[in-house]
Amino acid sequence: MFSFAHRKNIRASLWLLLVLLLLTVAISWFIQRQSLRYSALAFDAQINELEHSLGLCLRDNEELLLGAKGLYQASQTVEREEFHNYINSLDVAHRYPGMQSLGYSKWIAQNEVAALTQNIRDQGVPQFSIFPQGERQYYSTIIYVESFSQDNTPSVGFDLFSEPVHRDAITAAVEIGQARLSGKVKLVQAQQQAKYADSFLYLPIFKKGVPTNTAAQRWEALEGFVYAAFNTRDLLAELLPQRNLQIEFSLYAGRAADKSRSLFESPQINENLFTPAHHKYVQLELYGQPWLLYAESNAEFEQQHTSHLPVITLLVGIFIDCLLCAIFYGLVTQRQRALLLAKSMTEDARVINAQLKHSQDRFELALESSGMGIWSLRFSDNNMQWDASMCALFGLTDNNSLTTYESFLALVHREDTQRVFMEIAQAIEGKKGYDTEYRILWPDHQIRHLASRAKIIYEGGEAVSMIGTCWDISERKRLDKVKTEFVSTVSHELRTPLTAITGALGLMIGGNLFELPEKAKNVLDIAYKNAQRLKLLINDLLDMDKLLAGKLEFHCEPQPLMPLVERAVIENRAYADQMQVRYQIVPASVAPRVDVEDIRVLQIMANFLSNAAKFSKPDSDVIISLTCVEGYARISVSDTGVGLDEESKSHIFEKFYQVDSSDTRNKGGTGLGLAITKEIVERMNGRVGFTSVLGEGSTFYAEFPIVH
Ligand code: ADP
Repeated sequence: MFSFAHRKNIRASLWLLLVLLLLTVAISWFIQRQSLRYSALAFDAQINELEHSLGLCLRDNEELLLGAKGLYQASQTVEREEFHNYINSLDVAHRYPGMQSLGYSKWIAQNEVAALTQNIRDQGVPQFSIFPQGERQYYSTIIYVESFSQDNTPSVGFDLFSEPVHRDAITAAVEIGQARLSGKVKLVQAQQQAKYADSFLYLPIFKKGVPTNTAAQRWEALEGFVYAAFNTRDLLAELLPQRNLQIEFSLYAGRAADKSRSLFESPQINENLFTPAHHKYVQLELYGQPWLLYAESNAEFEQQHTSHLPVITLLVGIFIDCLLCAIFYGLVTQRQRALLLAKSMTEDARVINAQLKHSQDRFELALESSGMGIWSLRFSDNNMQWDASMCALFGLTDNNSLTTYESFLALVHREDTQRVFMEIAQAIEGKKGYDTEYRILWPDHQIRHLASRAKIIYEGGEAVSMIGTCWDISERKRLDKVKTEFVSTVSHELRTPLTAITGALGLMIGGNLFELPEKAKNVLDIAYKNAQRLKLLINDLLDMDKLLAGKLEFHCEPQPLMPLVERAVIENRAYADQMQVRYQIVPASVAPRVDVEDIRVLQIMANFLSNAAKFSKPDSDVIISLTCVEGYARISVSDTGVGLDEESKSHIFEKFYQVDSSDTRNKGGTGLGLAITKEIVERMNGRVGFTSVLGEGSTFYAEFPIVH
């Protein structure tokens, strides 16, 4: 069962791992996509930056041309010298990157060629002529040129309108009346040079005071052009370091990536050793001229914008997934175990409950049939709990009125209340176990005798409650009483005739009446001895009866104990002689006084001494001593006789108990002597005790509180 659950757990854990891994991959993919998106945006921003910078450069060029146009429009005729001074003042070479030359071309019709040629020659350019030669309807002939690169000085007199690339740009500029950019051109006089202006920006100049609202009006009012010739490669070469762009790119004039029309190529564009993350073709429109830009991200860009987050996410995610999966597996397995344990515990509990129920039923049955009641007392609030049997024992129908300790004490017989209270208090203090008998009064004033035993419940070393049993002993008490009364009656009735018999037998054996034959004397002797024994037994029985009935009165008075001891020894010496033992009194170093009745002490001593003599070997000593022990005066009687075995020791003070040996029976006795002795000693506030070793002898002692 467990291995099935185990397999199920593994399967569930693997499923969880799979789901988590998929989730991790999805998150990592999403992050990857986002980071690519951001880097694509950054790449676009780079292209925008480039485009913007190019636009700004061209706008600078346009503004330069607008300045030149202003010069023309201010004075209508600008001399070569003025143009030269104006351009020089602008510091073009430094402020306008890539600028090759700035010039002015005059727009003339066929019929104005001769006059213009003459005019220019008159201005100090004797070799001036318009080229390429040939008759054309209109010309845009260069009149002034300010060059910033020797190699690229365009020729004065060149008809820009004769060349298609220039013509397109010139036409577009007039058509919309604004600056227009040419396509890629080759300067006519510098075709073999490595460096040359490849783009021209044209700005048309119109005659003053003539309307220029429509294209036709502008063609009509056209005066000429100021133009800027620049080299895109140089322009970018100066521009790029300022921008610090992280892209490599190629720039083409026109809409196609035509090598022959390439304007610029980054040095590393073909050197990339890796496939760039981003590359793009962008169509630019600058002053009416379409340019194609091809850009790709460079190593620096890649390094800056490549995020390791997706890989890190993936790896960390996989690690966490495995961890979670392991934790899940652990938890599920733990839970499984806990469930199994709980199940088995539940099963155990069920069995235990069933057993408990069974034993409780048996217990209740036993209680019911024994008539025993159970009670408990909680000390914290004096609360008392009784079961139904307890109520019955107290003659009650319910226990509603019995909720406190006081309500219980109220039911105990007045004469026993104080004792019961003390016994319970002593039990709580741990001084004595609670095992007692008391009388109670039923509601109908009937007196009942109950016996009760209880034990104290401790929590954390503190007594918290008491639980006990109680049963009715009224019947036993009644029988005891009947028995005692019977014994008492019989004893009294027997004693009087027995005294007469003993007296008569004594007279006959003493030969006072007549001389007896020897045989008859022996028989009478036996009869006399047995009559004596019977008398002793009856006396003991009567004593016991009186003691139990509380009829034996004690007349105690303080007196020294030693004289009583000595008197007892003297009185019992005849018996010692008969048993052939010697009583030896140990001289006492103390002379204690005790509060006792002398006759009772003599009775106690007679019992101890006769027992010692009876159970000693002939010709042995019985030692009698008087000592003081912890405020008590102790009389000890030691013999070296048979001693007591362990079994006998625990019963020795019980009524009618005799050690079961033929030897004891031979020695006679009633088995009441020690029981009576104990009762008498205790009535005089004393204690009895003994020590004994089987086969070696015994010491019996009685102690009485010393009085001063
Ligand atoms: P009994 O009249 O039989 O002596 P006791 O009550 O005086 O009655 O003694 C009870 C029993 O205790 C005796 O029968 C005997 O077996 C035992 N016993 C009493 N004293 C001694 C003793 N000194 N040595 C051995 N056994 C003793």
